[in-house]
Amino acid sequence: MERLIYLDNAATTKVNPKVLDAMLPYFTEKFGNPSAVYSFAAENKKAITEARESIARVLGANTEEIYFTAGGSESDNWALKATAEAYEKKGKHIITTKIEHHAILHTCEYLEGRGYEITYLNVDENGVVDMEELKAAIRPDTILISVMFANNEIGTMQPIAEIGKLAREKGILFHTDAVQAFGHVPINVDEMGIDMLSASGHKLNGPKGIGFLYIRKGVKIRSFVHGGAQERKRRAGTENVPGIVGIGVAAKLCADTMEERSKRETELRDHLIERVMKEIPYTRLNGHRTRRLPNNANFSFQFVEGESMLIMLDMAGICASSGSACTSGSLDPSHVLLAIGLPHEIAHGSLRLTLGEDTTLEEIDFVVDKLKEIVAKLRSMSPLYEDFISKGKEVVNAD
Ligand SMILES: *Cc1c(COP(=O)(O)O)cnc(C)c1O
Repeated sequence: MERLIYLDNAATTKVNPKVLDAMLPYFTEKFGNPSAVYSFAAENKKAITEARESIARVLGANTEEIYFTAGGSESDNWALKATAEAYEKKGKHIITTKIEHHAILHTCEYLEGRGYEITYLNVDENGVVDMEELKAAIRPDTILISVMFANNEIGTMQPIAEIGKLAREKGILFHTDAVQAFGHVPINVDEMGIDMLSASGHKLNGPKGIGFLYIRKGVKIRSFVHGGAQERKRRAGTENVPGIVGIGVAAKLCADTMEERSKRETELRDHLIERVMKEIPYTRLNGHRTRRLPNNANFSFQFVEGESMLIMLDMAGICASSGSACTSGSLDPSHVLLAIGLPHEIAHGSLRLTLGEDTTLEEIDFVVDKLKEIVAKLRSMSPLYEDFISKGKEVVNAD
Protein backbone atom coordinates (compact mmCIF):
# COMPACT_ATOMS: atom_id res chain seq x y z
CA MET A 1 0.00 0.00 0.00
CA GLU A 2 1.54 3.33 -1.09
CA ARG A 3 -0.11 5.62 1.39
CA LEU A 4 -2.28 5.51 4.44
CA ILE A 5 -4.86 8.18 5.20
CA TYR A 6 -6.03 7.81 8.76
CA LEU A 7 -9.45 9.36 9.35
CA ASP A 8 -10.51 7.32 12.37
CA ASN A 9 -9.22 9.48 15.20
CA ALA A 10 -12.41 8.96 17.21
CA ALA A 11 -11.43 5.28 17.50
CA THR A 12 -7.89 6.01 18.58
CA THR A 13 -5.04 8.43 17.87
CA LYS A 14 -1.33 8.21 17.24
CA VAL A 15 0.94 8.87 20.23
CA ASN A 16 2.57 12.26 19.84
CA PRO A 17 6.39 11.84 19.61
CA LYS A 18 6.83 14.31 22.49
CA VAL A 19 4.53 12.16 24.61
CA LEU A 20 6.52 9.04 23.76
CA ASP A 21 9.82 10.78 24.58
CA ALA A 22 8.49 11.77 27.98
CA MET A 23 7.29 8.22 28.68
CA LEU A 24 10.31 6.18 27.60
CA PRO A 25 12.61 6.74 30.62
CA TYR A 26 9.88 5.41 32.91
CA PHE A 27 10.08 1.96 31.30
CA THR A 28 13.82 1.63 31.74
CA GLU A 29 16.05 3.76 33.94
CA LYS A 30 13.23 5.25 36.07
CA PHE A 31 11.44 1.98 36.78
CA GLY A 32 11.04 2.33 40.55
CA ASN A 33 7.79 1.68 42.37
CA PRO A 34 6.34 5.11 43.31
CA SER A 35 5.31 3.79 46.74
CA ALA A 36 8.90 2.91 47.72
CA VAL A 37 10.72 5.00 50.32
CA TYR A 38 14.14 5.47 48.67
CA SER A 39 14.89 8.58 46.70
CA PHE A 40 15.30 6.58 43.47
CA ALA A 41 11.53 6.08 43.45
CA ALA A 42 10.65 9.54 44.68
CA GLU A 43 11.15 10.84 41.18
CA ASN A 44 8.36 8.59 39.93
CA LYS A 45 6.04 9.81 42.61
CA LYS A 46 6.85 13.35 41.54
CA ALA A 47 6.16 12.50 37.89
CA ILE A 48 2.71 11.24 38.85
CA THR A 49 1.98 14.42 40.79
CA GLU A 50 3.07 16.54 37.84
CA ALA A 51 0.77 14.63 35.49
CA ARG A 52 -2.10 15.09 37.92
CA GLU A 53 -1.34 18.82 38.09
CA SER A 54 -1.27 19.17 34.29
CA ILE A 55 -4.65 17.51 33.94
CA ALA A 56 -6.18 19.43 36.86
CA ARG A 57 -5.03 22.69 35.26
CA VAL A 58 -6.69 21.84 31.95
CA LEU A 59 -10.00 21.16 33.74
CA GLY A 60 -9.86 23.95 36.32
CA ALA A 61 -9.88 21.25 39.00
CA ASN A 62 -7.78 20.56 42.10
CA THR A 63 -4.89 18.13 41.79
CA GLU A 64 -6.29 15.71 44.36
CA GLU A 65 -9.56 15.44 42.40
CA ILE A 66 -7.88 13.52 39.53
CA TYR A 67 -7.80 9.71 39.84
CA PHE A 68 -5.90 7.65 37.28
CA THR A 69 -7.62 4.61 35.79
CA ALA A 70 -6.97 2.16 32.95
CA GLY A 71 -9.00 4.21 30.46
CA GLY A 72 -12.37 5.66 29.54
CA SER A 73 -14.35 2.46 30.05
CA GLU A 74 -13.04 1.97 33.57
CA SER A 75 -13.71 5.61 34.46
CA ASP A 76 -17.31 5.31 33.22
CA ASN A 77 -17.84 2.06 35.10
CA TRP A 78 -16.43 3.53 38.28
CA ALA A 79 -18.44 6.76 38.09
CA LEU A 80 -21.73 4.92 37.68
CA LYS A 81 -21.34 1.79 39.81
CA ALA A 82 -19.62 3.44 42.74
CA THR A 83 -21.96 6.41 43.05
CA ALA A 84 -24.97 4.14 42.61
CA GLU A 85 -23.78 2.14 45.58
CA ALA A 86 -22.77 5.12 47.69
CA TYR A 87 -26.06 6.98 47.20
CA GLU A 88 -28.51 4.06 47.24
CA LYS A 89 -30.07 5.28 50.50
CA LYS A 90 -31.13 8.48 48.71
CA GLY A 91 -32.53 6.59 45.74
CA LYS A 92 -31.93 4.21 42.88
CA HIS A 93 -32.82 6.36 39.88
CA ILE A 94 -30.25 7.43 37.28
CA ILE A 95 -30.77 9.58 34.17
CA THR A 96 -28.67 9.13 31.04
CA THR A 97 -29.20 9.32 27.27
CA LYS A 98 -29.87 6.87 24.45
CA ILE A 99 -26.67 7.88 22.64
CA GLU A 100 -24.04 7.17 25.31
CA HIS A 101 -20.99 4.99 24.67
CA HIS A 102 -21.46 1.32 25.54
CA ALA A 103 -19.20 1.81 28.57
CA ILE A 104 -22.12 3.81 30.02
CA LEU A 105 -25.06 1.95 28.47
CA HIS A 106 -23.88 -1.54 29.40
CA THR A 107 -23.02 -0.37 32.92
CA CYS A 108 -26.57 0.99 33.16
CA GLU A 109 -27.92 -2.40 32.07
CA TYR A 110 -25.84 -4.03 34.78
CA LEU A 111 -27.26 -1.61 37.36
CA GLU A 112 -30.81 -2.29 36.13
CA GLY A 113 -30.18 -5.92 36.97
CA ARG A 114 -29.35 -4.82 40.50
CA GLY A 115 -32.55 -2.90 41.12
CA TYR A 116 -31.66 0.52 39.78
CA GLU A 117 -34.03 2.36 37.49
CA ILE A 118 -32.55 4.15 34.50
CA THR A 119 -34.18 6.83 32.36
CA TYR A 120 -32.69 7.00 28.86
CA LEU A 121 -33.32 10.46 27.42
CA ASN A 122 -34.17 10.90 23.75
CA VAL A 123 -32.21 13.24 21.52
CA ASP A 124 -33.44 15.36 18.62
CA GLU A 125 -32.54 14.79 14.95
CA ASN A 126 -29.16 16.48 15.55
CA GLY A 127 -28.39 14.38 18.61
CA VAL A 128 -29.04 17.07 21.23
CA VAL A 129 -30.71 16.33 24.58
CA ASP A 130 -33.92 18.25 25.33
CA MET A 131 -33.57 20.19 28.61
CA GLU A 132 -37.35 20.06 29.20
CA GLU A 133 -37.34 16.27 28.93
CA LEU A 134 -34.42 16.14 31.33
CA LYS A 135 -36.21 18.40 33.85
CA ALA A 136 -39.33 16.25 33.63
CA ALA A 137 -37.30 13.08 34.24
CA ILE A 138 -35.90 14.26 37.59
CA ARG A 139 -37.49 12.60 40.63
CA PRO A 140 -36.88 12.80 44.36
CA ASP A 141 -34.95 9.52 44.18
CA THR A 142 -32.71 10.60 41.27
CA ILE A 143 -29.10 10.29 42.38
CA LEU A 144 -27.12 10.82 39.19
CA ILE A 145 -27.32 12.41 35.74
CA SER A 146 -24.76 11.06 33.27
CA VAL A 147 -24.68 12.80 29.87
CA MET A 148 -21.74 12.57 27.49
CA PHE A 149 -19.89 15.77 26.59
CA ALA A 150 -19.57 14.95 22.89
CA ASN A 151 -20.79 11.94 20.97
CA ASN A 152 -18.16 9.58 19.56
CA GLU A 153 -20.14 8.78 16.40
CA ILE A 154 -21.84 11.98 15.27
CA GLY A 155 -19.72 14.52 17.18
CA THR A 156 -22.67 16.43 18.65
CA MET A 157 -21.85 18.35 21.84
CA GLN A 158 -24.43 18.59 24.62
CA PRO A 159 -25.43 21.72 26.59
CA ILE A 160 -23.17 20.60 29.43
CA ALA A 161 -23.16 23.87 31.42
CA GLU A 162 -26.98 23.98 31.36
CA ILE A 163 -27.22 20.38 32.53
CA GLY A 164 -24.64 21.05 35.25
CA LYS A 165 -26.59 24.07 36.46
CA LEU A 166 -29.84 22.12 36.60
CA ALA A 167 -28.21 19.18 38.42
CA ARG A 168 -26.70 21.58 40.96
CA GLU A 169 -30.08 23.27 41.58
CA LYS A 170 -31.71 19.90 42.16
CA GLY A 171 -28.88 18.56 44.32
CA ILE A 172 -28.14 15.70 41.91
CA LEU A 173 -24.66 14.52 40.93
CA PHE A 174 -23.60 15.17 37.35
CA HIS A 175 -21.16 12.91 35.52
CA THR A 176 -20.00 13.42 31.94
CA ASP A 177 -18.18 11.02 29.65
CA ALA A 178 -15.76 13.52 28.09
CA VAL A 179 -13.56 10.92 26.39
CA GLN A 180 -14.07 12.53 22.97
CA ALA A 181 -14.03 16.11 24.26
CA PHE A 182 -11.18 16.33 26.76
CA GLY A 183 -8.16 17.91 25.11
CA HIS A 184 -10.21 18.86 22.05
CA VAL A 185 -12.63 21.52 23.34
CA PRO A 186 -12.44 23.82 26.40
CA ILE A 187 -13.77 22.28 29.63
CA ASN A 188 -14.02 23.86 33.06
CA VAL A 189 -15.55 21.65 35.74
CA ASP A 190 -16.58 24.57 37.98
CA GLU A 191 -18.11 26.75 35.29
CA MET A 192 -19.93 23.73 33.87
CA GLY A 193 -21.10 22.28 37.19
CA ILE A 194 -19.46 18.91 36.51
CA ASP A 195 -19.04 16.58 39.53
CA MET A 196 -17.36 13.68 37.72
CA LEU A 197 -15.68 13.45 34.33
CA SER A 198 -14.18 10.52 32.39
CA ALA A 199 -11.31 10.83 29.92
CA SER A 200 -8.90 8.52 28.12
CA GLY A 201 -5.28 8.92 26.99
CA HIS A 202 -5.52 7.33 23.55
CA LYS A 203 -8.16 9.76 22.29
CA LEU A 204 -5.81 12.73 22.70
CA ASN A 205 -2.55 11.51 21.16
CA GLY A 206 -1.58 9.78 24.39
CA PRO A 207 -1.13 6.07 25.16
CA LYS A 208 -3.81 3.38 25.39
CA GLY A 209 -4.78 1.78 28.68
CA ILE A 210 -4.61 4.95 30.74
CA GLY A 211 -7.36 7.38 31.64
CA PHE A 212 -8.67 9.29 34.60
CA LEU A 213 -11.81 10.07 36.50
CA TYR A 214 -12.24 13.56 37.88
CA ILE A 215 -14.17 13.35 41.15
CA ARG A 216 -15.19 16.62 42.77
CA LYS A 217 -14.16 16.90 46.41
CA GLY A 218 -17.08 15.94 48.63
CA VAL A 219 -18.65 13.43 46.22
CA LYS A 220 -19.19 10.18 48.07
CA ILE A 221 -17.85 7.39 45.93
CA ARG A 222 -16.83 3.82 46.70
CA SER A 223 -13.32 2.62 45.95
CA PHE A 224 -13.15 0.84 42.64
CA VAL A 225 -10.16 -1.42 43.13
CA HIS A 226 -9.40 -2.61 46.67
CA GLY A 227 -5.82 -3.21 47.70
CA GLY A 228 -2.98 -0.80 48.34
CA ALA A 229 -3.21 2.89 49.16
CA GLN A 230 -2.65 4.20 45.64
CA GLU A 231 -4.93 6.95 44.26
CA ARG A 232 -5.92 8.00 47.78
CA LYS A 233 -7.05 4.41 48.52
CA ARG A 234 -9.76 4.62 45.89
CA ARG A 235 -8.09 2.76 43.04
CA ALA A 236 -5.44 0.33 44.22
CA GLY A 237 -2.61 -1.09 42.17
CA THR A 238 0.95 -0.04 41.34
CA GLU A 239 0.63 2.97 39.11
CA ASN A 240 1.10 2.78 35.33
CA VAL A 241 3.82 5.41 35.58
CA PRO A 242 4.74 5.64 31.85
CA GLY A 243 1.05 5.85 30.97
CA ILE A 244 0.36 8.49 33.61
CA VAL A 245 3.32 10.56 32.42
CA GLY A 246 2.04 10.11 28.86
CA ILE A 247 -1.51 11.26 29.51
CA GLY A 248 -0.20 14.21 31.54
CA VAL A 249 2.04 15.43 28.72
CA ALA A 250 -0.67 14.72 26.11
CA ALA A 251 -3.18 16.77 28.09
CA LYS A 252 -0.78 19.68 28.38
CA LEU A 253 0.15 19.58 24.68
CA CYS A 254 -3.50 19.42 23.68
CA ALA A 255 -4.40 22.35 25.91
CA ASP A 256 -1.47 24.45 24.67
CA THR A 257 -2.36 23.88 21.00
CA MET A 258 -6.13 23.59 21.34
CA GLU A 259 -7.13 26.92 19.84
CA GLU A 260 -4.96 26.62 16.77
CA ARG A 261 -5.65 22.89 16.26
CA SER A 262 -9.38 23.27 16.66
CA LYS A 263 -9.46 26.16 14.16
CA ARG A 264 -7.49 24.12 11.64
CA GLU A 265 -9.56 20.98 12.11
CA THR A 266 -12.82 22.91 11.91
CA GLU A 267 -11.77 24.43 8.58
CA LEU A 268 -10.79 21.06 7.15
CA ARG A 269 -13.95 19.43 8.52
CA ASP A 270 -16.15 22.12 7.00
CA HIS A 271 -14.38 21.79 3.67
CA LEU A 272 -15.00 18.04 3.81
CA ILE A 273 -18.66 18.49 4.72
CA GLU A 274 -19.25 21.14 2.05
CA ARG A 275 -17.65 19.11 -0.72
CA VAL A 276 -19.42 15.86 0.19
CA MET A 277 -22.83 17.51 0.53
CA LYS A 278 -22.42 19.38 -2.75
CA GLU A 279 -20.86 16.67 -4.84
CA ILE A 280 -22.54 13.48 -3.64
CA PRO A 281 -26.33 13.44 -4.04
CA TYR A 282 -28.72 11.73 -1.60
CA THR A 283 -26.43 12.35 1.33
CA ARG A 284 -27.29 13.37 4.87
CA LEU A 285 -24.97 14.97 7.40
CA ASN A 286 -25.45 13.32 10.79
CA GLY A 287 -24.99 15.35 13.96
CA HIS A 288 -25.37 19.05 14.64
CA ARG A 289 -24.03 21.25 11.84
CA THR A 290 -22.06 23.59 14.13
CA ARG A 291 -22.28 22.29 17.70
CA ARG A 292 -20.02 19.35 16.94
CA LEU A 293 -16.46 18.26 17.63
CA PRO A 294 -13.96 20.11 15.41
CA ASN A 295 -12.69 16.83 13.92
CA ASN A 296 -15.91 14.89 13.30
CA ALA A 297 -17.91 14.38 10.11
CA ASN A 298 -20.59 11.70 9.78
CA PHE A 299 -22.65 11.08 6.65
CA SER A 300 -25.36 8.72 5.48
CA PHE A 301 -25.35 7.86 1.80
CA GLN A 302 -28.65 6.56 0.55
CA PHE A 303 -28.59 3.31 -1.47
CA VAL A 304 -25.14 2.39 -0.15
CA GLU A 305 -24.08 -0.29 2.32
CA GLY A 306 -21.62 1.05 4.89
CA GLU A 307 -19.46 -2.06 5.19
CA SER A 308 -18.86 -2.22 1.42
CA MET A 309 -17.90 1.45 1.49
CA LEU A 310 -15.37 0.78 4.27
CA ILE A 311 -13.80 -2.10 2.36
CA MET A 312 -13.42 -0.03 -0.80
CA LEU A 313 -12.00 2.90 1.15
CA ASP A 314 -9.57 0.49 2.79
CA MET A 315 -8.42 -0.68 -0.64
CA ALA A 316 -7.64 2.96 -1.41
CA GLY A 317 -5.60 3.19 1.82
CA ILE A 318 -8.22 5.14 3.76
CA CYS A 319 -9.11 4.22 7.37
CA ALA A 320 -12.66 5.21 8.29
CA SER A 321 -15.50 3.84 10.36
CA SER A 322 -19.14 3.10 9.69
CA GLY A 323 -20.24 3.47 13.28
CA SER A 324 -18.41 3.40 16.56
CA ALA A 325 -15.38 1.13 16.77
CA CYS A 326 -17.20 -0.96 19.33
CA THR A 327 -20.21 -1.73 17.16
CA SER A 328 -18.39 -2.48 13.94
CA GLY A 329 -18.35 -6.16 13.27
CA SER A 330 -22.00 -6.40 14.20
CA LEU A 331 -24.73 -5.92 11.63
CA ASP A 332 -27.08 -3.94 13.85
CA PRO A 333 -27.17 -0.29 12.90
CA SER A 334 -25.66 2.00 15.48
CA HIS A 335 -27.89 2.91 18.44
CA VAL A 336 -26.85 6.54 18.01
CA LEU A 337 -28.01 6.76 14.39
CA LEU A 338 -31.30 5.08 15.30
CA ALA A 339 -31.75 7.51 18.21
CA ILE A 340 -31.48 10.53 15.88
CA GLY A 341 -34.32 8.98 13.89
CA LEU A 342 -32.60 7.43 10.91
CA PRO A 343 -34.42 4.49 9.35
CA HIS A 344 -32.37 1.24 9.37
CA GLU A 345 -31.53 1.35 5.67
CA ILE A 346 -30.18 4.92 5.89
CA ALA A 347 -28.24 4.19 9.09
CA HIS A 348 -26.62 1.24 7.28
CA GLY A 349 -25.09 3.60 4.71
CA SER A 350 -23.24 5.72 7.23
CA LEU A 351 -19.63 6.76 7.32
CA ARG A 352 -17.65 8.47 10.08
CA LEU A 353 -14.52 10.42 9.18
CA THR A 354 -12.59 11.84 12.12
CA LEU A 355 -9.61 14.09 11.50
CA GLY A 356 -6.36 14.25 13.43
CA GLU A 357 -3.66 16.81 14.05
CA ASP A 358 -1.72 15.59 10.97
CA THR A 359 -4.64 15.57 8.53
CA THR A 360 -4.05 17.74 5.46
CA LEU A 361 -6.29 19.49 2.92
CA GLU A 362 -4.75 17.36 0.19
CA GLU A 363 -5.76 14.19 2.06
CA ILE A 364 -9.32 15.45 2.50
CA ASP A 365 -9.61 16.21 -1.22
CA PHE A 366 -8.20 12.80 -2.11
CA VAL A 367 -10.74 11.13 0.20
CA VAL A 368 -13.70 13.07 -1.23
CA ASP A 369 -12.64 12.19 -4.80
CA LYS A 370 -12.38 8.50 -3.87
CA LEU A 371 -15.63 8.60 -1.95
CA LYS A 372 -17.48 10.02 -4.97
CA GLU A 373 -16.21 7.15 -7.12
CA ILE A 374 -17.01 4.53 -4.48
CA VAL A 375 -20.53 5.78 -3.77
CA ALA A 376 -21.28 6.02 -7.51
CA LYS A 377 -19.97 2.50 -8.07
CA LEU A 378 -21.93 0.98 -5.19
CA ARG A 379 -25.09 2.76 -6.28
CA SER A 380 -24.66 1.55 -9.84
CA MET A 381 -24.90 -1.98 -8.42
CA SER A 382 -28.00 -1.22 -6.33
CA PRO A 383 -31.38 -2.27 -7.80
CA LEU A 384 -33.10 0.12 -5.39
CA TYR A 385 -31.13 3.04 -6.75
CA GLU A 386 -31.84 2.08 -10.34
CA ASP A 387 -35.52 1.85 -9.59
CA PHE A 388 -35.44 5.21 -7.80
CA ILE A 389 -33.62 6.97 -10.65
CA SER A 390 -35.85 5.45 -13.32
CA LYS A 391 -38.77 7.23 -11.67
CA GLY A 392 -37.08 10.49 -12.68
CA LYS A 393 -36.35 11.82 -9.19
CA GLU A 394 -34.44 15.08 -9.09
CA VAL A 395 -30.89 14.73 -7.75
CA VAL A 396 -30.68 16.99 -4.69
CA ASN A 397 -29.70 16.67 -1.05
CA ALA A 398 -32.27 17.02 1.68
CA ASP A 399 -30.08 19.15 3.95
C1 LIG B 1 -13.31 5.59 23.41
C2 LIG B 1 -14.44 5.97 24.28
C3 LIG B 1 -14.64 5.35 25.53
C4 LIG B 1 -13.77 4.21 26.00
O1 LIG B 1 -12.47 4.61 26.31
P1 LIG B 1 -11.30 3.48 26.44
O2 LIG B 1 -10.14 4.24 26.95
O3 LIG B 1 -11.11 2.94 25.07
O4 LIG B 1 -11.81 2.47 27.40
C5 LIG B 1 -15.68 5.79 26.32
N1 LIG B 1 -16.49 6.78 25.91
C6 LIG B 1 -16.34 7.40 24.73
C7 LIG B 1 -17.25 8.50 24.36
C8 LIG B 1 -15.32 7.01 23.87
O5 LIG B 1 -15.19 7.62 22.70
